[in-house]
Amino acid sequence: MLIVKDLHASIEGKEILKGVNLTVKPGEVHAIMGPNGSGKSTLSAVLTGNPAFTVTGGSATFYGKDLLAMKPEDRAHEGLFLSFQYPVEIPGVSMVNFMRTAINEKRKYFNEPPLSASDFLKLMREKRAVVQLDNKLASRAVNEGFSGGEKKRNEIFQMAMLEPRLSILDETDSGLDIDALRIVASGVNKLKTANNATIVITHYERLLDYIKPDFVHVLYKGRIVMSAGPELAKELEERGYDWIKAQVDGAP
Ligand code: ADP
Ligand code: MG
Ligand code: MG
Repeated sequence: MLIVKDLHASIEGKEILKGVNLTVKPGEVHAIMGPNGSGKSTLSAVLTGNPAFTVTGGSATFYGKDLLAMKPEDRAHEGLFLSFQYPVEIPGVSMVNFMRTAINEKRKYFNEPPLSASDFLKLMREKRAVVQLDNKLASRAVNEGFSGGEKKRNEIFQMAMLEPRLSILDETDSGLDIDALRIVASGVNKLKTANNATIVITHYERLLDYIKPDFVHVLYKGRIVMSAGPELAKELEERGYDWIKAQVDGAP
């Protein structure tokens, strides 16, 4: 599904990603952890096509296509979904209209006609139930006046509606109370199929109590410096990152 090879990227002339390698297959859940500032958000931004970053080397393919050559909206149409660490508010645009536009844009990309109003509402209802999103929330403007938990639930709702092949969730647990965290995690788990995959980027091990990763990677100084199974998350929770930093940086 996703093959990232020796990916380098910089912002304002400063190199942030220094050779990232990552392979994701359908059905897999990957967690990317690591100390603050190690480049986790940069990696998700580069994969989804945030123009603030410049790719300076390496490659990323998505189902064999050159991901880095694609426009951000085409990456989304091809099935890449990014949940934002800081979700934007879109005043005056209701969730319903926002989602209808997003879904019909994707259908247009595949030369399919727009969804009928009744099919769209049926889909809304079905997916709202998955993430337990209140009907009132769905009719409000996107993220306007939403609490942190509501924004996150809303993102998972968008994910449910768009049925991405690969979802990248960046620090979904920041600012979430434990109940909202459970709902988000259960949404992610319910949406999991043998054909889609998730990359969960998180600073906190707690989220991984609810979303069980198949692989845990540690990103440090712009590289994935360690990859293992879910037990690595527990170890990081107990031991922190200093032992990994020491291995990478060498003895003082
Ligand atoms: P993480 O998500 O792992 O905490 P980030 O990818 O957000 O790390 O940041 C990695 C590095 O890139 C940090 O040193 C950060 O200061 C820098 N960086 C990120 N975004 C910008 C930006 N817009 N302008 C300048 N530097 C940035
Ligand atoms: Mg950060
Ligand atoms: Mg980050």
